[in-house]
Amino acid sequence: MPLSAHAQEAAQRPKWTLVIHGGAGIIEKSRVTPEQEAGVRAGLEAALEAGSKVLAAGGDSLDAVQAAIQVLEDDPHFNAGRGAVFTWEGKNELDSAIMDGRTRAAGAVAGITTTRHPVAAARAVMEKSPHVMLAGAGADQFAREQGLEQVDNSWFGTPERRRQLDKMKANSKLGWFDVDLKYGTVGAVALDEKGHVAAATSTGGLTGKRWGRIGDSPIIGAGTYADDRACAVSATGSGEYFIREGVAHEICARVRFKGETLKAAADTVMAETQALGGTGGVIVTGPTGEMAWSFNTPGMYRARASSSGERLVAFYGEDHP
Ligand code: ASP
Repeated sequence: MPLSAHAQEAAQRPKWTLVIHGGAGIIEKSRVTPEQEAGVRAGLEAALEAGSKVLAAGGDSLDAVQAAIQVLEDDPHFNAGRGAVFTWEGKNELDSAIMDGRTRAAGAVAGITTTRHPVAAARAVMEKSPHVMLAGAGADQFAREQGLEQVDNSWFGTPERRRQLDKMKANSKLGWFDVDLKYGTVGAVALDEKGHVAAATSTGGLTGKRWGRIGDSPIIGAGTYADDRACAVSATGSGEYFIREGVAHEICARVRFKGETLKAAADTVMAETQALGGTGGVIVTGPTGEMAWSFNTPGMYRARASSSGERLVAFYGEDHP
């Protein structure tokens, strides 16, 4: 008996999917050195591997996104964990969020300075506290009490990030932040075999940020959102605009209420963010197995894998838009 269209579609749908990003910005072939390119590629591949392993073994999307992010937090090529950008005062203050699409449980930390894996702290807030978001010294204290690894703040800094801060301070024309001082926020979204989605994002924020500035990454609905009824989203870019647009939730809302494809919803919301003045991008996946990304910068470090055997790493706009 021939399969119904619905059954055919279900049979073709990948059992699991994983999409990750390593930041968006002025990422152009002429600006990225071969060493930088090789380092970023290796990092994205290692993160894809860590997350895929969880999903291929039948694990949860929540564990997969955390595993992928922790690899990138330890990799100094990315602006998250070790390799995070410096604040104006020359410190590292880290933001992260994680969300479970099954229950819409969420956890986030902002401005933490001593917890090695900010995404693990976000997850602990979600699972071990009655709160959704903790900030500053209290968030680190909570993470420490939960037994999460603590490091000296200097562990996060690298000479390259110091150079970027010095360059920014030396050039007053650069303004509040410089899109050229490459972004490198990391994010991951996944669908697991059971049909549940999850999203996570981790960042050091923007070079030279001041006064306890917090961007979109740890704000549920702005830089991070997951809902089994729609999709999972992680964003990267000029966070203030992403907060104002409510990017991640807005994409999920379009999918849920308008039935748009993930790609169509992401493109529309990125266009609206751009109209406000925002630059950056998003990665998206959902229960249909669709994997999408959308960005309005010259490039976005990004990669994806699925149970169908697909495996792709891309940097520039012209590759796999
Ligand atoms: N969105 C992050 C922030 O504004 C930065 C980035 O994605 O590069 O903190």
